Amino acid sequence: MDQSTINEILEKTNIVDVIGNYIPLKRSGSNYKALCPFHDEKTPSFLVSEKKQIFKCFGCGKGGNAITFVRDYEKISFFEALQKLAHQAGIPIKDHKQKKVVNSKRELLLKIYALAENYYQQNLEQHGKHVKEYLRKRKISNETINKFALGYALNSYAGLKNFLIKNNINTKILSSSGLFTKNNNDLFRERLMFPIHDNMGKTIAFGGRILHSDQQGGKYVNSPTTAIYKKGKELYGLHQTKYEISKKDAVLICEGYTDFLRLYENNFHHCVANLGTSLTDEQIRLLSRYTKNFFLLYDGDQAGKNAAVRVAGKIVQSGYTARIVDFENELDPDSFLQKYSSDKLNELLSKAPNLSEFVKNDQMMGLNERSKLEILIEILNDFEDKMAMELFSREIAQTFQISENAVRRKIKRRRYEKNPTAQKNVSYDRFIEESNLLKAILHQKIEYKKVAQEIDSTYYLKEIHRKIFEFIQKNNKNIENISRNLEQIEDDLLKNMITQMIFSVPPESEPEEYIRTMKVRKLENELKQINQKIKTEPNKKEYYLQKIEIRNKLMKLNKKVVTKTIY
Ligand code: ZN
Repeated sequence: MDQSTINEILEKTNIVDVIGNYIPLKRSGSNYKALCPFHDEKTPSFLVSEKKQIFKCFGCGKGGNAITFVRDYEKISFFEALQKLAHQAGIPIKDHKQKKVVNSKRELLLKIYALAENYYQQNLEQHGKHVKEYLRKRKISNETINKFALGYALNSYAGLKNFLIKNNINTKILSSSGLFTKNNNDLFRERLMFPIHDNMGKTIAFGGRILHSDQQGGKYVNSPTTAIYKKGKELYGLHQTKYEISKKDAVLICEGYTDFLRLYENNFHHCVANLGTSLTDEQIRLLSRYTKNFFLLYDGDQAGKNAAVRVAGKIVQSGYTARIVDFENELDPDSFLQKYSSDKLNELLSKAPNLSEFVKNDQMMGLNERSKLEILIEILNDFEDKMAMELFSREIAQTFQISENAVRRKIKRRRYEKNPTAQKNVSYDRFIEESNLLKAILHQKIEYKKVAQEIDSTYYLKEIHRKIFEFIQKNNKNIENISRNLEQIEDDLLKNMITQMIFSVPPESEPEEYIRTMKVRKLENELKQINQKIKTEPNKKEYYLQKIEIRNKLMKLNKKVVTKTIY
């Protein structure tokens, strides 16, 4: 769909009506207020602006336009939300010809996977007595088997192939379906089949587990990347558990199918499996639609623990909470629940340590406290988001009983060690002019054109600010209605930052002052770098010329700054 259609839909849509259809809105000054539907709260911090056509929750940070709201409230895709709004606004959505070809290949693959799922399910009923016996022994109920559409791949080279041909599937498409070997044999033979579904419940891939210990091939085999499936994008079970995850405002993340099914069997219905030990940023973003509270239930061995620390770092970096469940004696969720009760797991969950506590208390790494602190500082060092950074600094400080300032100093030193010539004194509050300038542009206190004449995106030292500026740059013809273009942004953090800026009170000072400060800062950094170069190569004449040039520029901006920083 092109931007003009999206604009048309948004023009004919009033966000107050859209959101008002889902939750009761109360007028409050020039805005509307409500209890936020995305997090649990008792006093309303969810605001809707009719004028700006955006919403923003000041409790959980969520914000966006009408499309974002429908997408996140209904937990559907962006495109589906658009279709819904288009339908309400009476706008027909045309498909472009080229897209149709692509779509029809997708559709065909989806059809094949749906047929395959049915086929494997039928096999389980008709020929899978030994498979059912295996599942019964592992205490997986029929209800769970049906809910997750488990199946059985026969010990046959052409079972699935013949079934698909019988159902009028063209043999040409089979080779790109990912379900057959190079020789056109069935990929899955004599295996217990786990269909993998997308968020909407469509079958897009399979995992197959061996049924006999002497069987050839890996214990688990997964179908490969196809036009409908990309590894690291989906989460096993999410299409069935997303509602429960939303309701409980927490998600239990385990490694594989068996852990997942065991958790589900034991009434932990707010779980997913990430099918591997790494959780991708995309998966974190997907889960964050439903909750910001992540529990990692990885294997209790060293590999599992290392993975948990790594993944928890990624989650905390996104500004969400991560807790790590510490399984003793190398147990995993499956073996733990078979050995103990659900109550015991609930107990573990309720006292699950956060990332800093986990690292501090872990015995197995054999590290002293100082090295453990270094591990956490290293993780913190990668943070982009100021809020997330402050939260995690506080967590570390509390856990290790040191001051937050001590954590900050460590970070500064680490950054300096890593890159001595870079802006070593980039710290927490140095970005305030950047965000104030962005707010000023968004609130139209200064014309974008005027700003663009003075500075470009390289003047923004904080990455997220640079991204916001680039977004403004891209949409500079229509700043007044910039909220219409929010859906160009995939990154929710970025989207939330922008809506927060649009909702915020515009800054007091003159925008020109922010531009000047940012210019001075950039020049100062250049000056430092030149001075560094002169130290190492004192005979290079051009360095001195450059220095003079920078000094002149600085002089023009502000004399005081120059005398202070050069000598
Ligand atoms: Zn909220």
